[in-house]
Amino acid sequence: MRVLISADMEGCTGVATWGQCGGPAIAKHDWEFARRMMTHDVNSAIRGAHTAGAAHVVVKDSHGSGKNLLVDELEPGTELISGNCWMEDGMVQGVAEDHAAAVLVGYHARAGTPHAVMEHTMVDGVHRLWVNGTEAGEIYLAIATCASRGVPVVAIVSDAAGCHEAKELVPSIHAAVTKHGMGRYLARLLHPDSTGRLIRDQVRDGVLAATRPSFEVGAKQEIKLETKSTEQADAIAEIEGWKRSDGYTLTSEWPDWSVAHSQLLVTFQVLASSWTRG
Ligand SMILES: [Zn+2]
Repeated sequence: MRVLISADMEGCTGVATWGQCGGPAIAKHDWEFARRMMTHDVNSAIRGAHTAGAAHVVVKDSHGSGKNLLVDELEPGTELISGNCWMEDGMVQGVAEDHAAAVLVGYHARAGTPHAVMEHTMVDGVHRLWVNGTEAGEIYLAIATCASRGVPVVAIVSDAAGCHEAKELVPSIHAAVTKHGMGRYLARLLHPDSTGRLIRDQVRDGVLAATRPSFEVGAKQEIKLETKSTEQADAIAEIEGWKRSDGYTLTSEWPDWSVAHSQLLVTFQVLASSWTRG
């Protein structure tokens, strides 16, 4: 049995602020601690998958530069997708039809969620995003992309708000809460000893119960995106396929999830660089 783990950092055990979640290039002071915690959570998830019978686990490092996890510190036999590039499957790049299950580790709630640690959606300029009328963040994008490949997301590791968001999309998902957000940069943290056991057990139970499909991605995709500033909306309006409905809001329609997701990834990259235009 093959299992994919997609790992972000903001929802991992022990971290609460951007000062921990950056990398050397942007001089974040406590990144070494956060990557150690990310490794702790990912290794706990790998052990859970192995206990459930997974012979092969591949991990996608999906935070920032994609160079947070060190392959020599992961459980033996694991393969790591590492590096900085957004390809068609984004944060779950590497997902394949022969994966029995996927697991999201260290994910965070979508932009605009109250009491959610470092909530955001892909890039800073996204205020709110909807897919076919459902408000969406990175958890939605990962679940939908896996579903489009026939792979169920069976477990999530996040703060309480992120776990709640995932359960709204996939009620059967197994959730391991690493912390309780009290504000965007304030959280009541659980000890790594507790989260390690919880992650292992929830991932084990999720993989054992894996059934497909666990999420209906749908055919036609209607996307609505609200930016934080009009200058960001100006930049997106120039991309083919988007229609502007007001100063901050754009809509688009795509024939299937694969096209919609790759267009969204292009849009996020334009959004990330739009501040330099003024
Ligand atoms: Zn991240």
